[in-house]
Amino acid sequence: MKILVLNGGSSSFKSSLYDVTGNEGAAAPRALWEAKVDWEHHPGAAEIQIKTASAVTTRSVPVKSPLDSLDPLMAMLPHRNDIHVAGHRVVHGGRAFRESTRITPEVRAGIARMASFAPEHNRLELEAIEAMERILGPDTVQVAVFDTAFHASLPPPAYVYPGPYAWVDQGIRRYGFHGISHQYTSRRAAAILGRDMASLRMITCHLGNGCSLAAIRDGSSIDTTMGFTPLEGLMMGTRSGTVDPGIVIHLVRHLGLSAEALDRVLNKESGLLGVSGVSGDMRAVLAAIDGGDARAQLAFDVYVHRLRSETGAMLASLGGLDALVFTAGVGENSPQVRAQAVEAFAFLGVKLDPAKNAQSPPDTDIAAPDSTVRVLVVHTEEEWEIARESYRVASATPPPVSPAGGA
Ligand code: ADP
Repeated sequence: MKILVLNGGSSSFKSSLYDVTGNEGAAAPRALWEAKVDWEHHPGAAEIQIKTASAVTTRSVPVKSPLDSLDPLMAMLPHRNDIHVAGHRVVHGGRAFRESTRITPEVRAGIARMASFAPEHNRLELEAIEAMERILGPDTVQVAVFDTAFHASLPPPAYVYPGPYAWVDQGIRRYGFHGISHQYTSRRAAAILGRDMASLRMITCHLGNGCSLAAIRDGSSIDTTMGFTPLEGLMMGTRSGTVDPGIVIHLVRHLGLSAEALDRVLNKESGLLGVSGVSGDMRAVLAAIDGGDARAQLAFDVYVHRLRSETGAMLASLGGLDALVFTAGVGENSPQVRAQAVEAFAFLGVKLDPAKNAQSPPDTDIAAPDSTVRVLVVHTEEEWEIARESYRVASATPPPVSPAGGA
């Protein structure tokens, strides 16, 4: 089954084509091709780059909106007429969508209702769904794979906020995000260890531009650091993570900040960028530290402090730990971050193999042989996980699932 995956963001989107048989193991197979469309660094244009096993093709196309790049992208693609299924990453599934779902008019309406929770994302994703229907034809099966769905298993004490109970009825609760990545990396880590998911207590650390942890027991997420939105929890590239809500009240009351200004400050001007004043990119922060920049050092230290304390929180929810898994840009590539995160738990007997850690080997156990907890680096494969979920949904017999209720 040839499955086209669309994974869109606010500055770029990734797209991949997989030929899925259903017999793949835990590791991701190679995509037939991968495309990246980037419009952030190309004002008024989008750069489309397509990689196949034998060639890389790059083209710049004028665009007014990100979705303008879909038609030229599709025109450039090999195997376009063989595509059976389009699988979309949808950031927010709210309460209505607890698992990957075949897209019907009702499902589209449900995703549109969720737009108030994730306005930037869900609107773009709906447009991508419409564009694919137009380009591939109405008979192509489309599947929504939600970033929140893996966390649908959170128990009430983990998802209810201690505000007024009316919040629960209004859908104001912890949802958790990066679920597609936490799901893939936890399964892959279990396979690398040769263990059954049902026998493992794991913390998966997705440390990219956005950062979140998940506490996973018996293959299910039981706690996570992101919440109602992807702003809660760890310090991130440009997002603050958790701050005292009293700061928000202060900023509104005494400095007159609007909702838009708060959104900008907390999502785009905080985190590594906000504290260091250098960049939201960990590589640039590390380079500035090497150059003796004290605020860059402070930003790194706050990042590590938050990572350690949130890891401790996940540890308490699990009541023990078998494996700690690092993934995404920082998690996969920064020996310093991994070493500092693990050091805090040395008293529990968690120990890295320093030589292995220094090499950042993908899909490897980097713990010392006598460590009480296995520590792994796993390369996240979100596009493959979306393809896998899309295959599962598309292979299942109709009727398609309708949303269970409001957001
Ligand atoms: P996204 O969340 O947008 O998918 P990524 O998973 O690619 O992002 O992660 C981006 C982050 O990874 C950036 O902060 C980048 O600096 C960091 N990163 C990438 N390579 C390295 C490296 N070698 N050392 C430290 N950080 C790195």
